[in-house]
This record gives sequence, C-alpha cells and structure tokens, in this order.
Amino acid sequence: MKVLVLNSGSSSQKSSLYPMDETLPDDPPTPIWEGKIEWRDRIAEAEIKNARGVVQKNRAKVSSRAEAVEQLLGTLTTGDRPALTSLTNIDVVGHRVVHGGPKYEGPVSLTPEVRAGIAKVSDFAPLHNRAELSGVPQIAVFDTGFQRRMPLAAVVYPGPYQWFEQNIRRYGFHGINHQYCATRAARLLGRDLNSLKLVTCHLGNGCSLAAIRDGHSVDTTMGFTPLEGLMMGTRSGSIDPGILTYLIRTGRLDGQRIDDVLNTESGLLGISGTSGDMREILAAKNKGHTRAKLAFEIYVHRLQAGIGAMVAVLGGIDALIFTAGVGENSAEVREAACKQLTFLGLKLDDAANRQRTSDRDIAAPDSAVRVLIIRAQEDWAIAKECWHIMRSLRHD
Ligand code: AMP
Repeated sequence: MKVLVLNSGSSSQKSSLYPMDETLPDDPPTPIWEGKIEWRDRIAEAEIKNARGVVQKNRAKVSSRAEAVEQLLGTLTTGDRPALTSLTNIDVVGHRVVHGGPKYEGPVSLTPEVRAGIAKVSDFAPLHNRAELSGVPQIAVFDTGFQRRMPLAAVVYPGPYQWFEQNIRRYGFHGINHQYCATRAARLLGRDLNSLKLVTCHLGNGCSLAAIRDGHSVDTTMGFTPLEGLMMGTRSGSIDPGILTYLIRTGRLDGQRIDDVLNTESGLLGISGTSGDMREILAAKNKGHTRAKLAFEIYVHRLQAGIGAMVAVLGGIDALIFTAGVGENSAEVREAACKQLTFLGLKLDDAANRQRTSDRDIAAPDSAVRVLIIRAQEDWAIAKECWHIMRSLRHD
C-alpha cells in the first residue's frame, strides 16, 4: 500500500510517501519520497528528498498554494528514478487537518460533507486551516483529535457556561505528535503506555505541552486556538485578556490587528525584536543581546511553569519528553527547562543531552524521571492511521 501524506502549515507544505506492508514496523521508517515547500511573497522554495537521500532544491514563482502543491506532487513522478511511475499508484492520501472542531475526533474519510464541516471550523485556527482544502486529501487526521476527550474540567473555560454550549471550549493542538510521542516513549522505555504518566513538550514554531495518563491526554496548554499557553516563536501564548479589552476600549487596536499582533508579532520575535527562531535568539543572547536574553528567560520561565502544572495535574511523572524543532535540537532549552525539576528527582545526563541524536533517554541512570528526546513524526503517524482505515475497509 502506498500512502501519501500531505501536511499543510501556515507557510509551508510537507509531504511524504510511505510504502506500507501487511504489518507495521516498530520503528518509524524513512519515507521513499519527502517534499517540503516554504513560500513567501509568491516564491516557493522546494526541497525534495528521495529514498537514496538525494536532495533536490528549487525556487519558483507560484500564483497560489495549490500551484505550489501541484508542482511538489509533480516531482513524485519525474526526475532520475522517480518514486512513482504514476500518481494513480497512490492508494490513499492522508491529510493533517489542524482543527476538527467539536465534531471530529478520529480520522475520517474526506467526503464532501466532512470537507464542508472542516471549512466551518477554519476560523478557529486562522494561521492554518483553509489551506488543507486546496490539496487532494482523502482521509483527514485531526490535530485536535487526541485532546478531544480531556476531562471537562480541562475543557470548559470558566466564562459563562453558554460559551461551552457555543463550542467555545479548549480543544488543544499538536495532538497527532503528542499522541505519537506517548506511544513512542512507552516503546523506548519498554513500558506499557497504560501505566505511564507523561508530559510531552512539543516545542517548535508553535509550542504546547500535554499531560498524558494511561495513554490519554488529560490536559494541554493550547486551547480554543493554538494561541493559548506557552510563549512561542511569534505567538504570545497566554496573556491577561484584560490587556485585549483595554486595547480595544482605548481604540488602540481592533480585532484584526490584535489577531495579527498576537499571532505574528509576539513571542520570541516580539520581545527580542530580532527573530522568532530560537537558534537566532540563542546566538544573540550568547553575544549579550539584552532583549534576546529576556525573550529566552520568559520562554523558559513559562515552560517551567507549564511543566509544573502538567505534573501536578498528573499527580507525578514517569517521563518528560522533548519534541519538535526546539525540543529536539536545543540542549540549552532542555537543560534550562529541567533545571527546576531536580526536586522531583529528575537528573539530566549532561553529555547525553548535548548529543545530536533523537529517540533516546537523556536522563542520568539514577534519575527518578526519564527524559526523552523524540523526533516529531507527524507524517508517519498520519500514514499509520490511513493504513488502519484502509485495512478495516478491506476487511469489512
Ligand atoms: P518546527 O515547528 O518543529 O519545525 O520547529 C521549527 C523551529 O525549531 C525553528 O523556528 C527554530 O526556532 C527551532 N530550531 C530548529 N533547530 C534548532 C536548533 N538547533 N536550536 C534551537 N532551535 C532550533
């Protein structure tokens, strides 16, 4: 079975092609084709990697996201030793959909009705959603699905109850990766997922934590939109809503500007004034840039506070997991986040923390809490969901 995964972000499109057998491998395989496009100002920068690891890069002017995706998929069947002879050899297309709203939890076939349902909730995630509809998906896997069954106490905002009735509630995001990391952690630790208390730290451009008990998410930091919770690259994370009413009341900002400021002009970028990329923040901080240093300190402070809250909700912790761009690559962020957790008996192995490989335990042998780095594998997680659905359809 050939599974194509389309993973749309706000300014990028990642795609992977997996050949899948009758049984699933224990460890995530390397896709036989991987494509990524990032676009800015109508210029699409594509990077294609084939099964032999050969990377091909190109830059082209495109008139729309659909055209960029079209070009990307064209590389599946072209060039030296293409991954496919024809796109018709693809058995199923899995698509990451940021928001499933109150209705969608598990993966579903993208019927016209489901497409219409997704379009209705696209306002919930203004940075992402509508783009999903311009690809060629057939099965939708929702980034809100894993958090869909959090306890009501973690779901309902303490505003008027009518908000909840109007579906203004906490949804949580990054669910595909939080769930993948929990399953992978159990495997790496050789433990039963149903006996573990885990805190997963998804630290990428967007950042969120999840508290996972017995394989289920019981709390998370993102809420109604991917804006709540931790400080992020360009997003503020949680702030006092009184700031917003103050800005509106005094006529300084309207709703659209507030949305832009909180999503694209805040976080590491907003505080440092230089960049939303943690690599650049660390480099500037280490050269003595005062606001980059402050940005890093706020980021770490909020991360520590968030992890503490998740541990309290779980009533303990067996393993702390770092994943996504910052979580996988920054020893400095991991070290800073763990520094205040020694009271839990958590001890990092400093040398292991500085090594650059993922899917391993970086806690000291005598640590009471394991600390894992797990590479985000959203595309593989989506491919597995598609595999399960296709198999159940075949056996119906
Ligand atoms: P993601 O959203 O998971 O693709 O993560 C992207 C972010 O990861 C980038 O914006 C960087 O801030 C961060 N990142 C990637 N590599 C590193 C690194 N070596 N050190 C710190 N941050 C990194």
